[in-house]
Amino acid sequence: MNPITHNTRVRVTMALLSSMVAATTFAVDRPERSPAEAAKVADRVLGKAIIIDTHADTPQMMLDEGYDLADPSSPFMISIPKARAGHLGGEFMSIWVDVDWPQQDLIHRAIDLIDAVDRQVAGHPNDLALATTADDVVRIHRAGKIAILMGLEGGHIIEDDPHALDIYYRLGVRYMTLTHTKNNEIGDSSGDQPHWKGLSDFGRQVVARMNQLGMMVDISHVSDDTFYAAVAASKAPVIASHSSCRALCNAPRDTTDDMLRAVAKNGGVVDINFYDGFLDQNFADAYAKVAPAMDAEVKAARDARAKEGKRLTYLEESQIDEKYYAGLPIPSYTRVADHIDHAVQIAGIDHVGLGSDFDGISGLAPRGLEDCSKFPDLVRELARRGYSEDDLVKILGGNVLRVMRQVEQVSKSLQ
Ligand SMILES: [Zn+2]
Repeated sequence: MNPITHNTRVRVTMALLSSMVAATTFAVDRPERSPAEAAKVADRVLGKAIIIDTHADTPQMMLDEGYDLADPSSPFMISIPKARAGHLGGEFMSIWVDVDWPQQDLIHRAIDLIDAVDRQVAGHPNDLALATTADDVVRIHRAGKIAILMGLEGGHIIEDDPHALDIYYRLGVRYMTLTHTKNNEIGDSSGDQPHWKGLSDFGRQVVARMNQLGMMVDISHVSDDTFYAAVAASKAPVIASHSSCRALCNAPRDTTDDMLRAVAKNGGVVDINFYDGFLDQNFADAYAKVAPAMDAEVKAARDARAKEGKRLTYLEESQIDEKYYAGLPIPSYTRVADHIDHAVQIAGIDHVGLGSDFDGISGLAPRGLEDCSKFPDLVRELARRGYSEDDLVKILGGNVLRVMRQVEQVSKSLQ
């Protein structure tokens, strides 16, 4: 056989095969329910599911402005009264430090944030309890309280010292997002230019230590190359703590279909982010037009405050933002259900969860899902779309609990 013809044929066959693989989805017949039926199913699900949200940025408000989670008139997206109304069972509080924070002060700031979370837990013992294992979450939920967990957002916050991982683990941190919006010594960010084109050698050491400790590897924010390198390096399932689907909104922060398949193969979970700019292209395009002027006004206000030796408060900043938000096409909460549908179709029912990014999205959550009190409406919408009760329990938190258990087991096996 002519080798050229043969090779061409092999290539064509391979292309056909890969397009067939790419077309493999988990499309199942889910007959829609009537609103009345959906409400009944949702009520039953809310009675048995543990809703776990894998990302909220509320600790900054606790630390910087003394925000108390029990505040009945809380202006923020996460509060105890809202969490109670929304049947929230577990919340991963994000220990996030800006990439531009003074480099020698990153750990200090992170510890202050962890302390602020601990103080909230200690101050509200009837409502909150710290969870560091999947069993903790279940036990705390059974006791009628909200499980508070912690995740570190940005590998830069270990100050290039792997020993810091051990300390964060001991303080209760159970995931680390490998990068935030800039590359670091671990790997590349989706918000930066390629440098490592994946993970650095140090990054692979970090992933190995996280696997040993039992800290989940979070691939939200990383570049596509770093994503694949992290999935390949991790001996345990990974999570995307707050990422949506790029097929529905072209944001580099969102996961492609191929990435969704890779997470499924790895046994991990992609937790859908509620930020309008990651959910909806129309919104993202309109927002991009107003963002430069808005950012400039916020910066000017921040600089003016700094001259007075003060900081611009979150509420002052949101008052500026609101002026620019008027007229933006804010999507409906059903857009989150669209992303869940897509992720389930591509990755399968066992690999999708919720990662709201509440209190980290400058007020830009979808209409009808403005804060954590609104989770039941999302559950009713998903029930209307025909998901079984078991499937809903998985999406709402069961999948995250499974991954936590697997990560705990991998850690034990590596001791
Ligand atoms: Zn984030």
